[in-house]
Amino acid sequence: MAVARAATRARARATPRRDARARRATTTAATRDGDAPTTSRRVATLRNEGAYATLEKVAAIERRDATARVLRLEIGQPGFETPARVRDAATRAIEGGETRYAAPSGAPRLREAIAAYVTRTRGVTYDADDVVVGPGAKPGLFLPTLAVCDAGDEVVYPDPGFPTYAAMCACAGATPRPVPLRSDGASFDMAALEASVNERTKMIVINSPGNPTGGVMPREDVATVARLAKKFNCWVMSDEIYSRLIYHDDEAAGENDEKIFSICALDGMKERTILVDGFSKTYCMTGWRLGWVACPKHLAEKIKLLTVHSVGCVAAFTQIAGVEALTGPQDSVKAMRDEYRVRRDFVVDALNDIPGISCPVPQGAFYAFPSFDFPDVTAQELADYLLEDARVALLPGTDFGAAGERHLRLSYVGELSDLREAMARIKASLAKRFPDFV
Ligand code: PLP
Repeated sequence: MAVARAATRARARATPRRDARARRATTTAATRDGDAPTTSRRVATLRNEGAYATLEKVAAIERRDATARVLRLEIGQPGFETPARVRDAATRAIEGGETRYAAPSGAPRLREAIAAYVTRTRGVTYDADDVVVGPGAKPGLFLPTLAVCDAGDEVVYPDPGFPTYAAMCACAGATPRPVPLRSDGASFDMAALEASVNERTKMIVINSPGNPTGGVMPREDVATVARLAKKFNCWVMSDEIYSRLIYHDDEAAGENDEKIFSICALDGMKERTILVDGFSKTYCMTGWRLGWVACPKHLAEKIKLLTVHSVGCVAAFTQIAGVEALTGPQDSVKAMRDEYRVRRDFVVDALNDIPGISCPVPQGAFYAFPSFDFPDVTAQELADYLLEDARVALLPGTDFGAAGERHLRLSYVGELSDLREAMARIKASLAKRFPDFV
């Protein structure tokens, strides 16, 4: 009792300090609405994904002006339909009653198909128990981060980079260490990377081909990442969602379009690689929500448990569609990539033809990431101006991190005719606003 009373007295003495700390925390980080309880500091820095915010701006313009035809270059949504054979497989599965709960880590048939696909494409043997299926690739980023990071662990990731990398660090309580990319966006600034990885680093995120730059990391840079990961005993999360969208200059290399160079194939790396991939981009299945992680079994088991308690499982009929996507004919992937290549070449040439804009040739994904020289304008202001004046929606580079300033991101998934019109409108609007550059 005496101990309990002493504890109560100690708590009472500590309370004002705790309250003051809590008040400071809530004013600097957490949010509240009126008298409602506050939200956590964990979510205080979360921001909307730029593409969704732009979607709202486009909707506002269309509400204001019913005749406005906004050309949509902001979203990473494949410009093709999901292959018919995949849609048919899902329809048959629904008709056949595949509408109940499925296994949380994924249906065995799908995990086997994914393990076989990863083994075939990366040249490294995986089995079904190394694989966890989720609703899209995003859970494959988020849940492993929760599973490997404690508060104070550092996570290194590309800047500019996919916005979920910063968000997943915030939610895991990890310390974000964004590392700038080199000027063509293909890879990290390797000196900055070397300076950022240390004994506190728990995970290095790589994304090749990358969003937003379309850059493909040179193999020697991937080897450096592997060396650093082994030296400091950390994980590498390799986000390979665009791995089937590489535009090989060497046609012979492009012939075997299924072979993917992955960090997991380097010596001693399989046991520390969290390989993330999915169906959204390769099979034009963004709305189906289907992706996966392949990683060591002890981590896969923890990711499975996080899946059990967060999303539960992925719809059974969606998973059957996934089996069809991976095991059926793959010609749609090559046809799509060939078409994107034509669109990429057009868009990059057209951008480089605009005074004040300069765009490296991206080797993968379906994004162009030009920089601009115009004075006294931020990337956000320029993107807003182009939406209002040219009625072209694209994203400011800063939606992907501070190092994206003075860049724009365009996705070239749309029809060539729309891309032509978009480029003409952008050129005309910029000439009007920056006549000195014409
Ligand atoms: N990783 C990167 C780099 C992406 O660009 C995206 C989507 O745009 C994802 C992951 C998420 O993919 P999914 O829609 O399958 O969750």
